[in-house]
Amino acid sequence: MKLVLKYGGTSISSAKDIQEVAKHVATLSKKHEIVLVCSATSSTTDDLIEISESIKKENKSKAEQLASKITNRHKQLAKQTIKKTDIQKKLLLKLDDDFTELLALIDGLVLLGEVTPRSMDYLISFGERISVKIVAAAINDLTKKSIPLTGKELGIVTDSNFSKSQPLMDTTRLRVSKNIDTLFSKKIIPVVGGFSGADQYGHTTTFGRGGSDYSATIIGSCIKADEIWLMSDVDGLMTADPKIVKNAKLLKEVSYIEAIEMALFGAKQIHPRTFEPLLAKKIPMKIRNSATPSIEGTLVTSSPSDSVKNTVKCVSSIRNNGLIDIIGGSMIGTPGTAAKIFTTLAKAEINVMMISQNPSESSITIVIKNTDLHKAVNVLEIELLGKMIKELQVTTDVSIIALIGSGMRGTIGVASKVFAAIEKNKVNVSMITQGSSELNLAFVVKNSDTDLAVRAIHDAFELDKIN
Ligand code: ASP
Ligand code: MG
Repeated sequence: MKLVLKYGGTSISSAKDIQEVAKHVATLSKKHEIVLVCSATSSTTDDLIEISESIKKENKSKAEQLASKITNRHKQLAKQTIKKTDIQKKLLLKLDDDFTELLALIDGLVLLGEVTPRSMDYLISFGERISVKIVAAAINDLTKKSIPLTGKELGIVTDSNFSKSQPLMDTTRLRVSKNIDTLFSKKIIPVVGGFSGADQYGHTTTFGRGGSDYSATIIGSCIKADEIWLMSDVDGLMTADPKIVKNAKLLKEVSYIEAIEMALFGAKQIHPRTFEPLLAKKIPMKIRNSATPSIEGTLVTSSPSDSVKNTVKCVSSIRNNGLIDIIGGSMIGTPGTAAKIFTTLAKAEINVMMISQNPSESSITIVIKNTDLHKAVNVLEIELLGKMIKELQVTTDVSIIALIGSGMRGTIGVASKVFAAIEKNKVNVSMITQGSSELNLAFVVKNSDTDLAVRAIHDAFELDKIN
């Protein structure tokens, strides 16, 4: 089989973890052709982002302090991980080049006094540049051939939307498949840095936070992989967050569309575009725990088997949101009201998570992140209050509860079961949405009612007995 294995930061942050990964890959490579995709080690991307913030605040010493924290952490990791002295020595020299460049970059940015989106992407891609060198060296340490590559070196070409770039798939496919074929023919295991590629001018771009998942599926699609495994520190997708529901169960199989919903709402954060490259080629994906290889994890496929087509697959929650009731006299029967509201919010770069309008058209309710609330109310007031809007009613600290499962489609009685369970627990529901796909039923409760609501739904649908 052709396999793409993606390891998250927590799976490659200690010497022992990296050695385990190398061993696992070496064993798998006896039977399969493997491409490895790695994130940056834990907290490295956060540190790089903090460096950019320090530069913006003209705090050069803080930026350098963070850079040396990253440097020391990785040097130590390299020394602890790699046993053979010649391999370790070569690795440390290569890492030194990266660290020197990082400091030079900080110098340059401090001098300019600004961090543009382009330089930001270059800066925050350093985490993966470093991590892949250590992982590839660990594979070499086991006498297997392996080389580290950045997304750019592998041939991932993107548009120039820094920090949220998208791959130009046709060009990418040609380059990536050719490069990987060559490496496979020489029995070399490529270890590719996730999260980034380069635009057509060769400037480094990133896919946004968590983007290494997306890198893995882009590469998987390019080489027509048989399977893609996302290896992290969770066993797979669960029926609920185990921190909330003690008897939450691991889901054995879900469909792509369910997984997309779960990625947005679930406890396991997956980059929202991850599944896109898989849809056309129908490549199965497994979400697995790198620490427990005996657990099969969750299989994500285009057509899950009949035995796992449950009505509801999971219940998840997103806390700390704000709800705005936009109420207005002249909104009724006036075409374009919704367009004005959402254009105003879009211009302020506010992401709207839930929308509902009652048929009387006297109000539109939206849910956004608490952190965006201030800005949203402000722009709506400036642009529309007193014109088409009469009043804005704001509720802070609300939680979205979402039930996900394609089996809800056309099944009678789901909503009544949900709200009967909620009512029994005396929880107040302030908003409800269900798209016509019936894949996701979501409602809003107070933050403090989150756990109660999630447990009530989990019990009502007996999700502990799933699979
Ligand atoms: N290192 C990047 C991040 O922390 C990408 C990833 O981990 O997938 O967002
Ligand atoms: Mg990550």
